[in-house]
Amino acid sequence: MPSHTATKRTDPTPAEEALIHVLWINAGLSCDGDSVALTAATQPSIEEIALGALPGLPHISMHWPLIDFECGPEHGADDFLEWFRKADRGELEPFVLIVEGSIPNEKLHAEGGYWSGFGNNPETGQPITTSEWLDRLAPKATAIIAAGTCATYGGIHAMAGNPTGAMGVPDYLGYGWTSKAGIPVVCVPGCPIQPDNLSETITYLLYQATGQAPMIPLDDNLRPTWLFGHTVHEGCDRAGYYEQGDFATEYGSPKCIVKLGCWGPVVKCNVPKRGWMNGIGGCPNVGGICIGCTMPGFPDKFMPFMDEPPGGKLSTTAIMPYGTTIRALRKITGNTLDTEPRWRRPGSKLLTGAVR
Ligand code: SF4
Ligand code: SF4
Ligand code: SF4
Repeated sequence: MPSHTATKRTDPTPAEEALIHVLWINAGLSCDGDSVALTAATQPSIEEIALGALPGLPHISMHWPLIDFECGPEHGADDFLEWFRKADRGELEPFVLIVEGSIPNEKLHAEGGYWSGFGNNPETGQPITTSEWLDRLAPKATAIIAAGTCATYGGIHAMAGNPTGAMGVPDYLGYGWTSKAGIPVVCVPGCPIQPDNLSETITYLLYQATGQAPMIPLDDNLRPTWLFGHTVHEGCDRAGYYEQGDFATEYGSPKCIVKLGCWGPVVKCNVPKRGWMNGIGGCPNVGGICIGCTMPGFPDKFMPFMDEPPGGKLSTTAIMPYGTTIRALRKITGNTLDTEPRWRRPGSKLLTGAVR
């Protein structure tokens, strides 16, 4: 008899037997970069989510234009769109809505036309605008995820001078909006999103929707706190150079690149810690300045991108006296520590500890 016995669970839990639809609208003002990024997720991968490979995950039915075969020529767009129409008619329960791309302001058209749409209305033959889909589906969704900076805060399309009046999903629905399940819009910014940040958030909401996780913790800008609670600088491989006042003046250097335009000290993003794909990469870690793409003020407040941030000038000037002194002292200490104790040598006398 073994000293312990393991219980092998063969029957699915009620949560694992549940079916949740995931409806994905990528027809805001979007480049589809977040859809593409998600295919690179590994922690967990989208395949693991879709196949319910993680314990406790419910069955998922993904309706995602990037991969859905119902989008293909043999099916036509109507088969794919029928899921969205069902959700609109209240025949799809429950579902999570993922929005990719910013929401243009359709009220700005003085003489007809539209900025962005997602399929046609079969009754009129006219396009259904992205904002109309939001109006129709938001009251029926269990949760809404805004994926990527365009969908969260407007992003590139919402910068100064744009003609569309583009905005993020929380701008459109209101920051105080909550779903019928009481969940605010969940924002996963990034241009594009860090793949695992999105796959992890989807997973969390699936657990929450099946009663296996508490309310998702979000910050004031509706970002998951455990993903966006720290700055780029706090996780950057180059932070040691910054602390020693050692700054790169040209690309190709391993030193801190704040003088080349890095905004990492004030930007909330976990990419340097998490990497981009499978733990590898991460903007400043691999030599790219942080341009603040996860922030509501992106892009306008970070431009021009290649200039040293104004705050960087002050902080690097302030740290120079400390950094250069401490670097010199560390060099002396480092040389001492880089030398073996002198008693490690042959001879007839035991010198251990007697000489240093
Ligand atoms: Fe594309 Fe960036 Fe907008 Fe995502 S956030 S749709 S990657 S422009
Ligand atoms: Fe901070 Fe950017 Fe320098 Fe990294 S490269 S240490 S994030 S300023
Ligand atoms: Fe965007 Fe900066 Fe994060 Fe890179 S490190 S993903 S530029 S916020």
